[in-house]
Amino acid sequence: ADIAKYPYLASLNPAQLKAVTAPPDVPLQILAGPGSGKTRVLTSRVAHLVKCHGYQPHQITAVTFTNKAAAEMRKRLQALLGEKDAASLVLGTFHATCARYLRRHGKRIGLDNNFAIADADDCKKIMARLLKERVPELAKMHINLKEGVVLNEISKAKVKEETPGMMAVRARREAEKNAGSDSIGLKDLAKASTTLEVIAELYEEYETSLRAANALDFDDLLVFGLRLFREESWILEPCLHILVDEFQDTNTTQYELMKCFAYANGGVSVVGDPDQSIYGWRSAEIENLNRMRKDFDGVEAINLEENYRSTGAILDASHSIVSQDPNRIPKDLYTSHPKSTPVTLKQFATPVIEASYISTEIKRLVAYSGGMLKYDDFAILLRYNALSRVIESSLQKDAVPSRVIGGHKFFERMEIKDLLAYLQLADNPNFTPAFLRVVNVPRRAIGDKSVADLVDAAKRDKVSPMELAERIIDGDKLPAGIKPAVKKNLATFVGIVRKLRRAASQGTAVDDLIRLVLEKTRYEDYLRTSHQDFDQRWENVVELVSAPRLAMLTGKINYSVTVAQERERQQALNPDGTDNDFTPASAVVDALPVRKPKLAVHPMFRHNPAESLRSRSGSEDSKRGQKARVKVEDDVVEILSSDDEFEEVDIDAEAGAQLGAGSEGDSSNPLRFFLQSSMLSTDTGSDGDNVDTPKVTISTVHAAKGLEWPVVFIPAVEDGTFPSYRCVEEHEIAEERRLLYVAMTRAQLVLSMSHTMSRMTGGEEMDRNISDFVARSLRKNPTMFSSNLPEVNTQVRQQMAAMLGRDAPDETSTHELIMKHVRAAPPLSTWDTPELRGRGNRFARREGPSGAARASDYW
Ligand code: ATP
Ligand code: MG
Repeated sequence: ADIAKYPYLASLNPAQLKAVTAPPDVPLQILAGPGSGKTRVLTSRVAHLVKCHGYQPHQITAVTFTNKAAAEMRKRLQALLGEKDAASLVLGTFHATCARYLRRHGKRIGLDNNFAIADADDCKKIMARLLKERVPELAKMHINLKEGVVLNEISKAKVKEETPGMMAVRARREAEKNAGSDSIGLKDLAKASTTLEVIAELYEEYETSLRAANALDFDDLLVFGLRLFREESWILEPCLHILVDEFQDTNTTQYELMKCFAYANGGVSVVGDPDQSIYGWRSAEIENLNRMRKDFDGVEAINLEENYRSTGAILDASHSIVSQDPNRIPKDLYTSHPKSTPVTLKQFATPVIEASYISTEIKRLVAYSGGMLKYDDFAILLRYNALSRVIESSLQKDAVPSRVIGGHKFFERMEIKDLLAYLQLADNPNFTPAFLRVVNVPRRAIGDKSVADLVDAAKRDKVSPMELAERIIDGDKLPAGIKPAVKKNLATFVGIVRKLRRAASQGTAVDDLIRLVLEKTRYEDYLRTSHQDFDQRWENVVELVSAPRLAMLTGKINYSVTVAQERERQQALNPDGTDNDFTPASAVVDALPVRKPKLAVHPMFRHNPAESLRSRSGSEDSKRGQKARVKVEDDVVEILSSDDEFEEVDIDAEAGAQLGAGSEGDSSNPLRFFLQSSMLSTDTGSDGDNVDTPKVTISTVHAAKGLEWPVVFIPAVEDGTFPSYRCVEEHEIAEERRLLYVAMTRAQLVLSMSHTMSRMTGGEEMDRNISDFVARSLRKNPTMFSSNLPEVNTQVRQQMAAMLGRDAPDETSTHELIMKHVRAAPPLSTWDTPELRGRGNRFARREGPSGAARASDYW
């Protein structure tokens, strides 16, 4: 009966159904293997809370691991709930969720709401400066500290809520303990505790400089969020249910945040998989699963055992890897999908040949699948980013379009960071990392020495360098050491920032602000003359300014403009003009961060929107309180209704915002919202462009968590990459094994792994062996992997179609496609070389022209 009423329940198996329909006040913990529908359960549970239990969407908070996953979930929920409800769900990462609340309520814990978010690069620079001040001191103590190491320690401390003071106490306690013992490693231990003492001091100074810059680092978002929720727990009262995906990767702070949400009103559902825990290196604690059982009464645990994602062969192969862990708790996972083609394992002489194999094989599979597989059905998953370079160039050479996710992030590119720094300064002049970044970019003859003097002088005066610079321009006397010539150059810089600030305060659209930076700094000329890869960099700049990106980041959100303010602004701009064409809608349109949207007006106001609104309100004064509900979609603004009682015009967007929509937040300030979304963006930015052309995904394994593709390639399955050469301890190796497991279980139909005999590592050509994880599996079962190319024949095409829910391709046209492909195929030499055979490739020699899927064309 329920199923007729709630159609989304129809596609669930009994265990999933039980989870989705469990009473909302029962704490739910679902631990199950990959592809068993955990995320699907979570999404359906959200829908069920709304549809069956009558929750308002904004009373539900769902936390995912990446913004991409949040967007994915919102898309699914749009189908289940309709666009409007899906838009008002609070859906995002822990970081983004905290940032939203801190913008709105941060003042209550002493945080200015224009705080900047310092990214990894900013933090590194801050730490580098602090370390530089201590060079002689550290040298004397024979302590060698790199900023990354210090920041790592600080991060670990922060997520455990350890303050600098607490860290110092811990360091002293350890020092005392070591002084009392006379073990052999005494000297090392003593040194370690002094090092920790130094780190505690650095931690203190680091915090001071972040606070002075009115900035939060990523961990701070969580830590301050937690403080806010603990001190002002009423804020969370409207949140009736929190759902957490990928729970196995939460750290202590995130767990505590979840608890705050859950304790505010009770409802909590989490899903996860201990076998996929891959963030131990970032302080994720698998222990949180047990903690939850202690912290909540009557936790209901539900197991899901059917895998819907992968073929039997892929499931068997990945199980043979993960089950090598002796400490693992065994779990059942079966599939009713066919076994299908075996998992491929190939050996190549060099990474270049391996890359060439991948691009050739992608083209072959597209052809042999009869075009059923498009380029966006393929993913290449890498242990670390640097492996992507050779693969990207091979794909490019073979004209296979691709995009990189989880790589060098768009917003971390030098040129993008330069432009953002100007905007950050306009919003928050105290954000010193931005000041230091661009005070002399483009070069305006403000040398390092002058900057250092300026920073010192600012420190003495207890102001930020930006503020000191402004004071100098306004007539304060020059601090010692700074030459008068510098003042002139500083004036240029201050002038630009002030212009931006003024423009931003007038509600100028964000892309226009960026254009203003480009124009005033002559950034294009600067890039052209000082950077060799101008074209690529300029392309990024253009992408930053492009409307789609901005629409994605700033357009599809709830935000508001005060009608009265807008009217005043317009009158100031045009004192003689009548305000005939002023309407709340035009005000909204003017203030929109997207460019020139078309204006659509609700039928109610069609004749004369201004008149309609005016006639509904009384005196001039009461017009200040006009409110209109406006819908923004595809650049079209539509007025839905208006109401006199409220103060603002709300633009009520329907589509999902990166930070989760909702009526609260920092949405009244498009610039601030834009900066926040860009700092928290987990995507690369090439996502928004050209969505029409299907592209192969290149991603790190970490960034591929929770996702799936019909065909997955995992190159470099070698000792040194899987496990990474950095990992030596047993728990690290175990995490690497799980990482390989996560990679393998992303595949639905075809999984191809490969390894090479040599690879550049740390600038040196090194001999490579096959990953021990795979070797072990092979020793146990030599047929677990096959060196043959996956066979794609009529039967496999039909299996594919069934699993993907697509139409099987027509066999005649498939044959044509294959023939065309064979004619166009590159010669064997592109990825099989005599060198390879000469070096005794045991797989190569065994492999004959099997006829399987015309592999002979290549071999
Ligand atoms: P991971 O651990 O990798 O995050 P997961 O457990 O979250 O995996 P989902 O992503 O929710 O798994 O589901 C995997 C695939 O199986 C998806 O394509 C999903 O739509 C599909 N699926 C889940 N449950 C069912 C079902 N009952 N019937 C059909 N397909 C299903
Ligand atoms: Mg999932």
